[in-house]
Amino acid sequence: MTNLSITDIRKMENMVQTAERCTIVTHMKPDGDAMGSSMAMYHFLKASGKEKVKIVIPDSYPDNLRFLISDNSEKDILTHACSPADADAAVKESDLIICLDFNAFHRTDRLEKSLEESAAKKILIDHHLNPDTDRFDLVFSETGISSASELLYQILVRTTAIGLNAENLPAETATALMTGMTTDTNNFSNSTYPSTLEMASALLSAGVDRDRIISELYNRQRENRLRLMGHALTDLLKITDDGVAYMVFDAETLKRYDIREGETEGFVNMPLTIDTVRMSLLLKEDGERVRVSIRSKKGTSANMCARLYFNGGGHENAAGGRLILNKDLSDISEAGTYIEKYTHKFLTDNK
Ligand code: 5GP
Ligand code: MN
Repeated sequence: MTNLSITDIRKMENMVQTAERCTIVTHMKPDGDAMGSSMAMYHFLKASGKEKVKIVIPDSYPDNLRFLISDNSEKDILTHACSPADADAAVKESDLIICLDFNAFHRTDRLEKSLEESAAKKILIDHHLNPDTDRFDLVFSETGISSASELLYQILVRTTAIGLNAENLPAETATALMTGMTTDTNNFSNSTYPSTLEMASALLSAGVDRDRIISELYNRQRENRLRLMGHALTDLLKITDDGVAYMVFDAETLKRYDIREGETEGFVNMPLTIDTVRMSLLLKEDGERVRVSIRSKKGTSANMCARLYFNGGGHENAAGGRLILNKDLSDISEAGTYIEKYTHKFLTDNK
């Protein structure tokens, strides 16, 4: 935590104060950090007296994050995939848009156009590399931090209302921040900084029920998920001579195991437990796209590999992207060949 400017935080407070309609936006396929930071901001704004607050998400969130959404907040969440006109209208008609956990408009996929067209003031709060800063009126961007949720925590505790005392945060905000930090650090196994543990400590002292969060996030999964994991590790996992592990889930496999959004979360990390593996990729067929997740050990850049060969980006050791069928690949069955070719090129070029 180096760059947080109190002047910027006061600027944000002013922007919030003068805005009538506030809209919170996060990235497509929202994960724990995306929903956690969004719900945290929502409850903070509501507790600050803002009446018109909406959360606009490109598409739906996984079932295991449902516990973050109360009956009261649900009516203020608009999903573009379900109601595009309402979602676009909320973005266009807002005075202030707070963008959480993404670095460029295109990461919101279907919301990109309305974000570009909206005349609202825009604030970015994010922890990814290479933020598109020109698009925002105020930018909080920090990459040496666990999550957008942690960055938001660091900002909120410095607001006048919270006065450096986590106990003053609304309870729902505290729970949502702890959730986002927990999922983005993989339950404290990566990207955990001194500031992350300080935040966790302060939130626990403030009364956050971490046992409940862990139980909701990790211990309420469906049997199918574990069955697919078994199949994937036994039959689908490939490891190249370069130490690249990969698994490809085609649409047929995902259908056979009835896999829902978010249910393969964490799979991509597992091959990194093998000594000789330095990078792991998980590919999922999704319509005409193939979604790519990449994780790497220190010394190998998942971000660079995603940027160079998988139309994506992210963080140094956790990144993602996509391949387009009939463009990058003619068929999902070619994914293995593509991965082996380009990861080999990547690792030899970047020795
Ligand atoms: P995941 O593998 O969990 O989907 O994503 C890992 C990280 O990479 C996340 O921080 C995510 O924001 C980033 N990421 C995932 N997909 C993309 C993408 O298509 N483009 C960019 N720039 N980043 C991505
Ligand atoms: Mn994040």
